[in-house]
Amino acid sequence: MVQPVVGVLALQGDVAEHLLMLDAVGARAVGVRRPSELEAVDALVLPGGESTTIIRLARVFDLLEPLRARIGGGMPVFGTCAGMILLADRLEGGAPGQESIGGLDATVRRNAFGRQVDSCEVDVSVSGLGSTPFHAVLIRAPWVEKVGAGVQVLARVGHGPAAGRIIAIRQGTLLATSFHPEVTGDERVHRLFVDDVVRPALLA
Ligand code: GLN
Repeated sequence: MVQPVVGVLALQGDVAEHLLMLDAVGARAVGVRRPSELEAVDALVLPGGESTTIIRLARVFDLLEPLRARIGGGMPVFGTCAGMILLADRLEGGAPGQESIGGLDATVRRNAFGRQVDSCEVDVSVSGLGSTPFHAVLIRAPWVEKVGAGVQVLARVGHGPAAGRIIAIRQGTLLATSFHPEVTGDERVHRLFVDDVVRPALLA
């Protein structure tokens, strides 16, 4: 079986955790900082961190247009937290003038859980991961306000003040979560990305 090469955009954020997870689920994980490195990967993870910093650095490193071109060409991408913000076609609560890479037909609200609640953890049921709930770690996280017709909702917050809010979505080869599966030790979301999104896209 071919081993997919999955990059992690390594400009800022929790890059190392994603590299470890991707290796653990059978991909060859590599950091991506330059256009030539982006060209060499089969798929990409956009990590959590600070979306305003990552987008600024993507521009400085001449990665913004190449990223848009590869996403437009069907490259599988998994965005977590800031990565979800970067993938969204429409942003709410962004910094003045904040742009995104785009690709996901969704409206994402940045820092949606409120400034007091910097971080919270909830168990959620994620479509495609079986019956065991996933422990979702949310750190100054976004949620999804609205999705386009081609977007599948994979998880919503189950209870509490944010009950019903969408925190995981998929649109074809694009996957995004508000939470950080790379910090939990639970490999299921990374496995879903590599086995159900990346591998089929390589065979297509
Ligand atoms: N609030 C951050 C942003 O706007 C995202 C936080 C995270 O990725 N943990 O980019």
